[in-house]
Amino acid sequence: MPRAGRVLPRTAQRGSSRRRAGRAGRAAGTVGVVPPPAHDVNRSGLVVVRADPELWFLLSRERRRDRASVPWDGDATLGHVVQSLGVPLTEVGALRLDGRPASPQERPVPGAELEILPVDRPQVVPGATGFLLDVGLGTLARRLRVLGIDAAYRNDAADAELVREGLEQRRIVLTQDRGLLMRRALWAGAHVRGDRPDDQLADVLDRFAPPLAPSTRCTACNGELAPVAAEEVAGELRAGTRRTYDEFARCRSCGRVYWHGAHGKGLQRIVEAARAVVARHRG
Ligand SMILES: [Zn+2]
Repeated sequence: MPRAGRVLPRTAQRGSSRRRAGRAGRAAGTVGVVPPPAHDVNRSGLVVVRADPELWFLLSRERRRDRASVPWDGDATLGHVVQSLGVPLTEVGALRLDGRPASPQERPVPGAELEILPVDRPQVVPGATGFLLDVGLGTLARRLRVLGIDAAYRNDAADAELVREGLEQRRIVLTQDRGLLMRRALWAGAHVRGDRPDDQLADVLDRFAPPLAPSTRCTACNGELAPVAAEEVAGELRAGTRRTYDEFARCRSCGRVYWHGAHGKGLQRIVEAARAVVARHRG
């Protein structure tokens, strides 16, 4: 099935320069490159942080304001400063230092003003094949699957496994664990906003605006559904279901049988709400 690239829309992304910014200019023989400053306590001081209000929920209460001064040790990069405030770089679309674009690898100077902007929505993650959900987000995983969105989920995966699987399978890890999002080996991730599954679903749809294909994916295992003739599945259905429905599908992975209307009103409500959220981005 042509799955790659189907999940995410293609629009410009301002975001994550973290993985793109390499060690340019450090090759042997390069001349004229200024080495990064060594740790020097004399350079330490305060940095003024201006975080976008959309990110305030990640900050400690006293820092939820337009400008907050934070100590800088003379060595930490902007990326370290941001993460030390509790904001994973996955949630950052751009940094500005004294009004100009800056990379997370840069270091500030005392008194500098650091602006932290959230990721653009919808966010595009080039090469992403789908999502991988952290423990505790099982209900969200099932709702994404109802909408036909590729949402892998295991309720027993350790952080390191999630990070590894996300990297190997090019999946965006969805979690509410900031420590997980700050792991260096993470390929792509997002902090899911909201406690209720309705809110979490709305947040993921709003953030990534993935194409929807309701009733094409198994809610139990995330496998893809294939149409199947009624007579082939007749023996697996209750008499009432056989009489009432005539369109059936079977999961290619686990063999579970689905019929049109199997999710009833609950499905309709989720699909309509999802279409409204995604339509806001896609016009
Ligand atoms: Zn299945």
